[in-house]
Amino acid sequence: MTLKTRARSKFSRAFGNNFQDTLIIRLLYSRDIVALPSITKLVVSNIPDGVVLIKEIDDIVKVFQIANDEKIPVIPRLGGTSGFGGCLPYKKGVVIDLKGLKQEFLIDPGDLSVTVSSPYVFSDLQRSLNMQGFSLCSYPSSLYSGTIGGWFAQDGSGIGALKYGGSLDQVKEIEVVLPTGEIKNFSDEDKLSLFAGSQGTLGIITKLKLSVKFNTPLSYKACTYDSAKDLVVGLKSLNNLDIFSIWVMNPKQVALLNSTSDYALPERYLVIVSKEVNYKEEESEFYANFNQTIRENKGQILDDRYIKDIWKHRFRTFSLLKNTKTFLFGEAIIPIDKSDQYIKKIETFFNNQIQIEGTMISPEKLSLLYFVKEKDEISDIKTAMLFMKFYKIMKKVVKYKGHPYTTGLWFSGYYKHIYGNEQLLSYKAYKKSIDPKKICNPGKVISPRLKIFPLMKLKTALKLASEVIG
Ligand SMILES: Cc1cc2nc3c(=O)[nH]c(=O)nc-3n(C[C@H](O)[C@H](O)[C@H](O)COP(=O)(O)OP(=O)(O)OC[C@H]3O[C@@H](n4cnc5c(N)ncnc54)[C@H](O)[C@@H]3O)c2cc1C
Repeated sequence: MTLKTRARSKFSRAFGNNFQDTLIIRLLYSRDIVALPSITKLVVSNIPDGVVLIKEIDDIVKVFQIANDEKIPVIPRLGGTSGFGGCLPYKKGVVIDLKGLKQEFLIDPGDLSVTVSSPYVFSDLQRSLNMQGFSLCSYPSSLYSGTIGGWFAQDGSGIGALKYGGSLDQVKEIEVVLPTGEIKNFSDEDKLSLFAGSQGTLGIITKLKLSVKFNTPLSYKACTYDSAKDLVVGLKSLNNLDIFSIWVMNPKQVALLNSTSDYALPERYLVIVSKEVNYKEEESEFYANFNQTIRENKGQILDDRYIKDIWKHRFRTFSLLKNTKTFLFGEAIIPIDKSDQYIKKIETFFNNQIQIEGTMISPEKLSLLYFVKEKDEISDIKTAMLFMKFYKIMKKVVKYKGHPYTTGLWFSGYYKHIYGNEQLLSYKAYKKSIDPKKICNPGKVISPRLKIFPLMKLKTALKLASEVIG
């Protein structure tokens, strides 16, 4: 128990057993999918003071009332899968676990949209939509664990984004509980773009209306390239084929996939392409166009038997790590023109021992997920060094006109690189107007000051440490 007695009794009285502050519960909520080296405790107070299990919107209003009165940070959490530290406390506080929020699902076939509560897990949503002949437009590869609310709050993207755009392109309206306790609906572009990527710093998203599409079958093709340079030429050439999704692996990732399955894919840069096709002739036309485009652009077309069932692996990247004790990953968005240089940079930096997967999230941008895995448990110091190496290479993405996938905690301070200066100013002004006591997920988006050395920001400290250690 670390809350002051008055605050603790307010939470206990308001929420009964839905407020918990035993050490075990607090530890459970002190991490996301990445296990942090304990050295981070020097800069981050990631163990919350307590956890409130939210059941209804009114609970959120009550949490904000107490938190404002007692000046306690409120940290929203859904699936906890984003891995950038956004749902971790920075200065302790109370985590609100929103997974138990009442589920709502209302489809509007005329408007091709669905309104759902924020804890909806993508796979459940997709199943409900498919049963009525509809489908999500784009979705993350964490389909089975990520939620729609967390995805939008971290401005997610994913499979199908090449054709339909990322979360901001899908979401048409949101319902939010502001830190003032007001419940508001927003559908204007300016507000939606502020909430996308706000990491729960502007309020708690409780409901979202998003576009859906008809559930059109997909057809697949695959090809390989000898070098990252050829890969980029090839990716650009595919842009004219109205593709649904382009998924890329580096040779090391292909080797891992081969070793954990019965595939024998050539260990080169692999590209798996999917396209929506309504009828047989459309499929034949796609195959013909694909084959011609690949042949004209230095690619090698993969025989269809190689890619049989490979599409199901799009949700299994992290299950390839099942024999791994430790892993760390980074995810960056990079303009397609510079992506071969950045891929080479990452591969060289990690002595060609790095797995890379990429997803085209627009005709101009490639999202790159890269990770290293260690078969055995590694020491805390080694984990910290690796963490800094990841920070160092991510920092360099800015030189290639790219940016970290999202801000969260670890890349707080990169908001300007992602959204530009004008949006940063709008974000700051709006934040000030709705959260004057700075209780809503402090430490995220804008780089916070260090508790042990308040003259320095977290971003500066991580930059310096990554130069020395990384
Ligand atoms: C294997 C794997 C694959 C992934 N693939 C993709 C991908 O393809 N594309 C992609 O975009 N992401 C991907 N992710 C990241 C992540 O899984 C998704 O973005 C996911 O949808 C986040 O949802 P979540 O419920 O886990 O959010 P959380 O991790 O719980 O939260 C994310 C952020 O949103 C805030 N937040 C949570 N709930 C709310 C709320 N109700 N209101 C306001 N703020 C809130 C949190 O404080 C945090 O800052 C992947 C992750 C993994 C592990």
